[in-house]
Amino acid sequence: MHLFPLFTDLKGRAVLIVGAGLVADRKIHLLLSAGARVIVGAHAAHPQVQARALAGEIELRLAPFDPVWLDDVWLVIAATNDRRLNQSIADAAAARRLFCNVVDDAALSSAQVPAIVDRSPITIAISSGGSAPVIARRLRERIESLFDPALGALAALAQRKRLAIRQARPQLRARRDFYDWLLDGPVLSALRRSRADEAEAALDQALAQDTQAPAGKVLLVGAGPGDPGLLTLRGLRALNEADVILSDRLVSPDILALARRDAQVIDVGKALGGPHESTQARIHALMVSHARQGRCVVRLKGGDPLVFGRGGEELQHLKRHGIAYEVVPGITAALACGAYAGIPLTHRDHAQSLTLATAHRRADLDPVPGKRQTAEGQTRVYYMGVNRLPRLRAQLLEDGLAPDTPCALVENGSRPDQRTIFATLDTLAATAAEHQAQSPALILVGAVTALGPELAWFGQVLNADTAAPEMPYLQAMA
Ligand code: SAH
Repeated sequence: MHLFPLFTDLKGRAVLIVGAGLVADRKIHLLLSAGARVIVGAHAAHPQVQARALAGEIELRLAPFDPVWLDDVWLVIAATNDRRLNQSIADAAAARRLFCNVVDDAALSSAQVPAIVDRSPITIAISSGGSAPVIARRLRERIESLFDPALGALAALAQRKRLAIRQARPQLRARRDFYDWLLDGPVLSALRRSRADEAEAALDQALAQDTQAPAGKVLLVGAGPGDPGLLTLRGLRALNEADVILSDRLVSPDILALARRDAQVIDVGKALGGPHESTQARIHALMVSHARQGRCVVRLKGGDPLVFGRGGEELQHLKRHGIAYEVVPGITAALACGAYAGIPLTHRDHAQSLTLATAHRRADLDPVPGKRQTAEGQTRVYYMGVNRLPRLRAQLLEDGLAPDTPCALVENGSRPDQRTIFATLDTLAATAAEHQAQSPALILVGAVTALGPELAWFGQVLNADTAAPEMPYLQAMA
């Protein structure tokens, strides 16, 4: 082992930092968060460090380095930009058998500060032994994204209940099962929802029982529009927790590939024109039956689960059946298509309001509700409209929109095969037909769409009369 990892308790203990620039300030911040008594020595100090001294957070000694400073401290950090001075600090520390970290200088350091993932009391430290701090930082980012922020609160609760857990589960095996249950079950879930009392009650209740009845739950997760980079960190963690994934047709395979390997994936996608109601009833039944068997069910939907995804009905069904649930939002198609087609959905000069609408109304609704709205300053985004363009056109014209209102259709938004077709309200249906636009596609209507041909940066751009389609950014820079 190149370096020996050690976690030190610095609470109330004196630590010396030599140097008082911004680099030193970052270390000061870190040490203060660990409860250390920080002494800073330097011939001059950055205003930020001076402010800390004024606020009483640190003790500041404005003087040249004096080895006597090392006499009463537990640890030394050299953060000056003078290598010779750093060297003499390291030497003075070594003479006193004190560990010394020289910032960004592994050769001079007898101790190194790792990259840290802090879920106190759980702390993860990563070191590359000074060989490649960038790799350690990248690893830290990855680990950071995988760990639930509620883990710290769970560990703190477990610490508080340690004795009670030991008494209620004297056998090691049973105790281990209990901790497993803590990590997977309703206690962590309640902490994640900021319901500390509920978490503690669930823990106490489980301890009072002989063994845990497995408690299942459903996570309603938005997978975003397709680009896996647009999945949220919470969504990724949910996919790693899942026993069963009920996935929609719109969810891209790249995202399913991120799921836990032994999760059972069930495709519950509704084909267009299929028997929607029976499919929906089947989804409801699957969620309830898997959760009742104690499983963690991820109901994975394209975009955001509560935007035109029937997620609301699914939550109502779960609530009626007493199944615990959480909702993880996703990036809805409107936001993704706007961003990836270079169409700002609002704009100080062109649009002050945004409407997300479905072009697929339930048959029993009035086919033309909310008539005669003004077209000015509005962006309208229509989901599920690609097969209903002639009807949508007629309806919007009837509502009073001008035939030359700028429009865009974004097909496969954020995916490698994205196409953006620009047109006017009058020509959109014909242009889309000419290019054989297909679902999934989004229709955007309003002045802001006229900015798209200039601002487009992703995928294929069609009919952008005002810009060279193959190099739209040149136009934007001109
Ligand atoms: N819950 C989803 C919407 C489901 S309705 C969301 O929040 O995005 C399905 C409709 O969404 C499709 O008919 C299409 O209009 C739109 N849609 C979903 N993903 C899309 C994508 N990648 N590109 C363009 N439109 C998309």
